[in-house]
Amino acid sequence: MDVRIERAAREQPTYIGFLNDLLGQEIQHRQQRNLEVRTKLSHLPYRKTLDEFDFSFQPTVDERLMRELAMMSFTTRAENILFLGPPGVGKSHLSVALAMAGNVHGLSVYFVTLTQLIEDLRKAYEENRLDKRLRVYTRPKLLLIDEVGYLPMDRVAANLFFQVISARYERGSIIMTSNKNFGEWGELMGDSVLATAILDRLLHHSYIINIRGNSYRLREKMKAGSYGMPQQKTE
Ligand code: ADP
Ligand code: MG
Repeated sequence: MDVRIERAAREQPTYIGFLNDLLGQEIQHRQQRNLEVRTKLSHLPYRKTLDEFDFSFQPTVDERLMRELAMMSFTTRAENILFLGPPGVGKSHLSVALAMAGNVHGLSVYFVTLTQLIEDLRKAYEENRLDKRLRVYTRPKLLLIDEVGYLPMDRVAANLFFQVISARYERGSIIMTSNKNFGEWGELMGDSVLATAILDRLLHHSYIINIRGNSYRLREKMKAGSYGMPQQKTE
């Protein structure tokens, strides 16, 4: 503030100009604070952006599509995004980057792993407060569910998962990551009818981004030649 008063005295701008300057800065600070609050409320595991993603390393990811998705118009149409692929190819990174873009666009965003989501809802169900707790996952404009497929689900878990998907269907966007093909979801959920019902809703309005490259985590080792990459299926 002192610096600005000094500058005003030196440059002698009009009062309007001076006020405009002050207000502009105040608005900018407030927007910055709001963004920080929204980002904290999103429960992101870390902060990473699209600019930090090396698209040349992962040619099956279309950079133009990712940049377009980061404009967030898919959320106004309640469309979903599914990132599929083996570990380390950047599914979580890209999800977090889109979550951060959502925050910048002023959207409410919530990030959770499937394991956390199930644990949380199972507890709420046992304590007879499922309806209220479900709102945590239905209210945000954009919900991210990370790591679908790492752990098998029992009947209660699959049912809880279905409730979230079904409540958001055509109402709010979901970004999901999975290391499993859709064909394996029946086995994953121990119930092929339920798995089909979930996939039906998820995929109806969706972008499917199938990443078929190598793990970024192992790239340093690959460079050093100390790690033989297992053959990737190319379909
Ligand atoms: P996944 O969720 O598919 O298992 P991650 O998104 O967690 O993989 O990626 C593993 C690590 O490698 C993260 O630290 C991520 O930021 C980084 N990473 C993955 N792919 C890229 C890439 N193409 N460019 C830059 N960093 C990447
Ligand atoms: Mg991940």
